[in-house]
Amino acid sequence: MIKKEMSPTTEYKKIGNVGVIEYLRLNEFPWLINAFSTREGGVSQGQFSCMNLSKTVGDDPENVEENFRIFGKAIGVDPENMVYSDQTHTDHVMRVGAEHKGMGIIRDRNFHDIDGLITNEPGICLVTSFADCVPLYFLDPVHRAIGLTHSGWRGTVAKIGAKTIDLMGEEYGSDPSDMICCIGPCIGKECYEVSEDVVKEFSKAFNSSQCERIYFPRKEYEGKYLLDLPQANYEIFVECGLSPENIFLPDLCTACNHDTLHSHRASGGKRGGMCAFLMINV
Ligand SMILES: [Zn+2]
Repeated sequence: MIKKEMSPTTEYKKIGNVGVIEYLRLNEFPWLINAFSTREGGVSQGQFSCMNLSKTVGDDPENVEENFRIFGKAIGVDPENMVYSDQTHTDHVMRVGAEHKGMGIIRDRNFHDIDGLITNEPGICLVTSFADCVPLYFLDPVHRAIGLTHSGWRGTVAKIGAKTIDLMGEEYGSDPSDMICCIGPCIGKECYEVSEDVVKEFSKAFNSSQCERIYFPRKEYEGKYLLDLPQANYEIFVECGLSPENIFLPDLCTACNHDTLHSHRASGGKRGGMCAFLMINV
């Protein structure tokens, strides 16, 4: 069960025995499907237990495919209509369409090193994978275009969130002032200790007042910092011209909820993966 005092941005629910997290703001659009998986409701065993949606962590591929079928059924999306990013901590974002359906799920991809996906085609479900890194959901309700991006610390330093917004502007005419962005479940500031070399990269990418809100020295541990990745992505979105009221921060931490969510840090790397899903419904 997820430990959460309040639920200002997300709703956690069970569909059968499948745990699903949804963004309440995105649920206001009846033509949109948004979801984030949990560890609940799948067939995987051991450290992958039991809803693992990552094919790159050593789990039995048949179990992962079965998990996609189970999760897809719960949220009403056929795995044949999903397209799964090929995440390698790049800042590469790609426009996808009907020709990419099923790629990374039921057939091989014809693209590589892609951490963000955008589309304006109904019936194609964008899928990205996580276990502490930051999921970014993008919606342009005016042009009916969407994006879904994986932003770990490297992607955040490279501002892949801004690159996703830029590409949606080029491809669909999206204006940041119209856009809604949800920052998905990820590792929270209190649980994310990093060393000086990581913080140095942030100090180059963000100005000093932003840095005061992004990382915090740990008094008791010399050279160690707590890093707030959701806040860093919030700063990027504001820089891009989004209205603060259209940016939604996560209200739960993957590491604090390790019994329900896969967390790389909390498991010492022995873990499965969760996925974010976003689709314009037909
Ligand atoms: Zn935490």
